[in-house]
Amino acid sequence: MIRRLTFISALTALSLASSAQAATFNPGTYTAVAKGNGGDVPVAVTFTANAIQKVEIGQNKETPGIGSVAIDNLPKSIVAKQSLGVEGVAGASITSKAILTAVAACVKQAGGNVDELSKVQQKQAIVPAQTLNADIAIVGAGAAGQTAAIRASELGKKVILLEKMPFAGGAAAVNGGTVVIQGSKIQKDAGIKDDSPAIMTDDYIKNGHNLNDRKMLSLYVNNVGSMVDWATTYAGMKLNTKAGFTNEAEHSKPRVMRWVDGAQGATRNFKAAVEKSGTKVLLGTPAKELIVKDGKVVGIKA
Ligand SMILES: Cc1cc2nc3c(=O)[nH]c(=O)nc-3n(C[C@H](O)[C@H](O)[C@H](O)COP(=O)(O)OP(=O)(O)OC[C@H]3O[C@@H](n4cnc5c(N)ncnc54)[C@H](O)[C@@H]3O)c2cc1C
Repeated sequence: MIRRLTFISALTALSLASSAQAATFNPGTYTAVAKGNGGDVPVAVTFTANAIQKVEIGQNKETPGIGSVAIDNLPKSIVAKQSLGVEGVAGASITSKAILTAVAACVKQAGGNVDELSKVQQKQAIVPAQTLNADIAIVGAGAAGQTAAIRASELGKKVILLEKMPFAGGAAAVNGGTVVIQGSKIQKDAGIKDDSPAIMTDDYIKNGHNLNDRKMLSLYVNNVGSMVDWATTYAGMKLNTKAGFTNEAEHSKPRVMRWVDGAQGATRNFKAAVEKSGTKVLLGTPAKELIVKDGKVVGIKA
């Protein structure tokens, strides 16, 4: 049964930085490179005589949806706060560190004072608590939470999706980018007609050394096919049917395919589907407490 849930956003602390005082630079554009998660992160910083005017990030291979969050946001923060002491992006700490290291190298080249610019004075700005209403509030924008949000809104429900990280995707944003499609139309269309929930169960039990949770496994093997059909039609997820099945030792039948563009493609398509669903997504918002009334969960504090 779906109940109307309330989501309360608690006091949010914003950090405000005051500008570094009396910064001086030799005006111009300087470049530096630092190692990120996917390789080199090239940075170009433009200075006026007393300000960091522009921070630009060049071609890089940081993970879309994770490292890219730092690439999109950190340069703006550095310029807005005129500081090297800005907080990195949670979950994208390696990319954040690369950007800050390369910008610091540019500051040095421009004759600026890295130590001074790294001092950030933080003030706490209190945003008053607000109450938001929805039919369903979902905690966690991983694959499960995003799927639940898309499905709930398909059923006409108003949904709020809370995610503690500054990006959605959870493990699915960085995983192997494959999915089991046993029982789906795509598996049958690809000519595999002799697979079944029973065969898949045997494979999993064997691979799991008989330690599997049978109830959960049964739920999985009996629903994954229709789930994949729904995801690839209604939810706009795209399987790489051209590449065909992947070969994985634990599966006795061809039943695993890659998403188009792997985990990155799946993350992009999930994001688009969640946006299209009209779900209100609140990133960087950890759920802290369930609000229980008369033994029923009626809300979440976050
Ligand atoms: C390295 C790796 C490779 C994998 N490869 C594959 C593969 O190729 N194919 C496959 O099918 N599966 C693969 N898996 C498994 C698959 O990725 C996971 O089973 C699936 O992504 C789990 O999704 P989830 O939504 O259940 O959990 P999660 O991805 O863990 O999502 C939970 C989300 O909740 C958020 N959260 C937690 N607490 C709070 C809170 N208090 N408030 C707000 N948000 C919160 C988290 O930040 C996270 O985003 C792989 C897993 C890993 C780790």
